[in-house]
Amino acid sequence: MPELPEVEVVRAGLAPAVSGAGVASVTVYDERSLRRHDGPSEDFIDRLTGRRMLTPERRGKFLWIPLDGGTEALVVHLGMSGQVLLRDQSTDDALTRIRLDLDTGYRLNFVDQRIFGSMAIDTMVPTTDHPDQFVPSQVVHIARDLVDPLFDDRRFLAALKRKNTTIKRALLDQTLVSGIGNIYADESLWGARIHYDQPTASLSRPRAVTLLAELRAVLAQALAEGGTSFDTQYRGVNGQSGYFAHSLKAYGQQGKPCPRCGTPMVREQFMNRGSHFCPRCQRLR
Ligand SMILES: [Zn+2]
Repeated sequence: MPELPEVEVVRAGLAPAVSGAGVASVTVYDERSLRRHDGPSEDFIDRLTGRRMLTPERRGKFLWIPLDGGTEALVVHLGMSGQVLLRDQSTDDALTRIRLDLDTGYRLNFVDQRIFGSMAIDTMVPTTDHPDQFVPSQVVHIARDLVDPLFDDRRFLAALKRKNTTIKRALLDQTLVSGIGNIYADESLWGARIHYDQPTASLSRPRAVTLLAELRAVLAQALAEGGTSFDTQYRGVNGQSGYFAHSLKAYGQQGKPCPRCGTPMVREQFMNRGSHFCPRCQRLR
């Protein structure tokens, strides 16, 4: 599933092509890709056709393109396998669910193999912490992410202390901090030498601060390397792969030596997925 760096690569790739462009025509090939749109496909098409797009924005794993007037946005949920491919208007892609032709000659093909993703037109509402800033209503319950300059470190650290949970669950809780999934959680916990099942209340403040710094460093490196692509399902807007997969220290590294101490890395079942960690560097305390 794409996490913050992968979604940001898509946002940054779309920005120069869609900012200021008009939507000339919209084609919906599969209504299931409108599952998060409140209305039939005719409504989606009517509300999008002829509109001008503004600069794409992102919070955590959520991507949206504000529309002229500023009261509505096209929200793009990538889900497990969604891709937004930027093409010329003679190019088709297999598994295109929704197509937008722009008045600049570009075409956006929303491709989604497994159809967990979707597009929707949504209303912009004020954010809870900065009411002069607007996000789509589907995003308002999502916490700010760690590359957002308005992310409140002190508030996050206080919430960790207060919550009766374990650290990896907290990192994956999109209402506490957004944009982090299994990959970047495992990478940052390895960097901070914290066991994934460490209760958050037992985490000292210096260790929690270290973890925040590791998270920011891992996200920054993944952004610089174009995100993590394991298969054909995550791609940038031009179909390119990211190469952060080559920089992974923990995620998917079970059986390989820990890059820090040489102990074989371990994978344990966690929330229907896996947690990857070094049993020596990351002891439960
Ligand atoms: Zn180790």
